[in-house]
Amino acid sequence: MRGVGSALAEKLLRLGVTQVQDLLFVLPLRYEDRTQVCQIGSLLPGMRSVVEGEIQLTEVTYRRRRQLLCRISDGSGFLTLRFFYFSAAQQNGLARGARIRCFGEIRRGPLGLEIVHPEYRRVLQEQAPLEETLTPIYPLTEGVPQGRLRALIAEALRELDTSAVRDWIPSHMIESLGLPPLKDALSYMHRPPREAEVTELAAGRHPAQRRLAFEELLAYHLTLTLQKRMAKTDPAAALEDSAGLEARFIAGLPFNLTNAQARTLQDVDTDLRQSLPMVRLLQGDVGCGKTVVAAAAAARAAGSGRQAALMAPTELLAEQHWRNFRDWFQPLGLPVALLSGSQPARTRRSAFEAIASGEIRIVVGTHALFQEGVDFKHLALVIVDEQHRFGVQQRLRLQEKGQKDGLFPHQLIMTATPIPRTLAMTAHADLDISVIDELPPGRTPVKTVVVPEQRRDEVVMRIVEACRAGRQAYWVCPLIEESEESRSQAAEETAAVLAEALPLVRVGLVHGRMPSAKKDEAMLAFKAGKIQLLVATTVIEVGVDVPNATLMVIENAERMGLAQLHQLRGRVGRGTEASSCLLLYRGPLSQLARERLKVIRETNDGFEIARRDLELRGPGELLGTLQTGLAQLRVADLMRDADLLPCVQKTAELLLSSYADNIAALTARWIGSGERYGRVG
Ligand code: ADP
Ligand code: MG
Repeated sequence: MRGVGSALAEKLLRLGVTQVQDLLFVLPLRYEDRTQVCQIGSLLPGMRSVVEGEIQLTEVTYRRRRQLLCRISDGSGFLTLRFFYFSAAQQNGLARGARIRCFGEIRRGPLGLEIVHPEYRRVLQEQAPLEETLTPIYPLTEGVPQGRLRALIAEALRELDTSAVRDWIPSHMIESLGLPPLKDALSYMHRPPREAEVTELAAGRHPAQRRLAFEELLAYHLTLTLQKRMAKTDPAAALEDSAGLEARFIAGLPFNLTNAQARTLQDVDTDLRQSLPMVRLLQGDVGCGKTVVAAAAAARAAGSGRQAALMAPTELLAEQHWRNFRDWFQPLGLPVALLSGSQPARTRRSAFEAIASGEIRIVVGTHALFQEGVDFKHLALVIVDEQHRFGVQQRLRLQEKGQKDGLFPHQLIMTATPIPRTLAMTAHADLDISVIDELPPGRTPVKTVVVPEQRRDEVVMRIVEACRAGRQAYWVCPLIEESEESRSQAAEETAAVLAEALPLVRVGLVHGRMPSAKKDEAMLAFKAGKIQLLVATTVIEVGVDVPNATLMVIENAERMGLAQLHQLRGRVGRGTEASSCLLLYRGPLSQLARERLKVIRETNDGFEIARRDLELRGPGELLGTLQTGLAQLRVADLMRDADLLPCVQKTAELLLSSYADNIAALTARWIGSGERYGRVG
């Protein structure tokens, strides 16, 4: 393209632009309406408007700092333009009597309405032409000014009809969705007409956006699917478990596996016996017993003379898993190492040595597992718990560690984030999926009650009752505090108040800012029943397992998302005793909050909750935290555009089977041709 030198080209590269066509896929973040001039008399603070008027006065003042003030009028009122940075030439150009047209955000200033640093230009006659379309605002990269980018894209748009902007998707698929062809969609996105539905565009629901979102989702789906196919060509160690440790582990459990656990474990075992790496997602609602399945897989790795590592998102959880594993594997003569960031260096060093020598075959830890210095002898299985808490990168690092002598480790990824199947098929298109859709027998569903803040006393009495009956309770403190520090403080205060109000109840506390030794101490004491009421921040959200706890109180439940409430509630109802969850709220409730509380009260089923969440569309709650490669989508939003997914999947199959030649060009357009995703499963 003419006028694009190497410096600019380099900057454009940061936007993923290497060729003219790429410019067309740099999509506006939002639009401004510069198609009409607003009367100064009708302006309101906050508007971003085009204004035209005659300069009444231009002067340099020294109010606190040097600045140029320029007052214009159009007969309906006055407006001040304020410049803190200006050149002499600029000042001279803004001479009294000149007519200028300017654009910017209207705000209230000391002299009435004003615009600070407006974009402006001189206009000669009153009818100077205005913009004919809405003005796109593009994402910026350092060193490429908005105006420059806009001009480049405008130039690229001129080639829309002639260039190689091809529709790689068979047109009947697009037509069946009632969406426009690619060229129309692109030209609309870059130049929406004056009368465009701005609210629809802002919400991302315009057919032009949906057309592009469809293509983007398709590109990701294809990339992840191909990634999976490629991963399946790598060599891995076939885990035969000649020592028979897995069978011995299962036989030693104090319970039988549920059918769903047995079925899932069969999927896993079949994968592990192959000399290709497993990349399997184990999905199951809170409390369904994913850990046992993971442990059985770890036993198989150990029984094959190799190593397994389990990574948990918090120290609390890593410790809990480690204790479980230690108790389970002791009878099999297998030591289990724990690696966490808070360990004394000496303990850690000796663990490092035992891991490097292969003496220890099963390791549990936090992300400390992939720190420098950890060197596995032959890691054959990586298990990731609560996958949504980890970035893809972290998983990759652990996987790289295992890649030795040309062999790749198997991966088992566990999540309780129940996302509807259609979403999962795209978000996790690179994974095989097993679902545990059954809870262990004998569980009584948790009874959920919504209680207004005013009846807090009754809630406190319920705690006394539970403790008197030999049960235990959680009290989860509000999330409303901004920082972890103030949250922790709120938890401390709540614990103090409750301890005073309940002299016969042993009250403990865990929060994010406690040293982990203190946290562990409190958790252990709670597990052992020495603490009866555990006051906590949402650090206990994931994984914590104390079956004797039967009461969960959640403060300010109206502020929490459905997924989080469901996770928290999952801390109770883990034993055979009936459990309750009391959701304290402070009114008045918004419509959305009311709906959410209704959903959580009505059902205990994580998948149903996810479905309802999708309907209610709590902003990104479900997937906002779900870290997948899809985090960097440009136009699409997995939640918002979920209705497109069945057709995305169908179209992907069609392309893979009949239009394979189109795939590379299509994915390069959206994702780039480099190996941006690395080798993550
Ligand atoms: P999650 O899937 O939420 O991680 P856990 O693995 O922590 O669930 O299991 C929850 C509880 O259920 C644990 O106390 C575990 O020992 C117990 N459990 C797991 N499987 C069974 C089973 N088949 N029968 C009875 N209890 C089980
Ligand atoms: Mg768990």
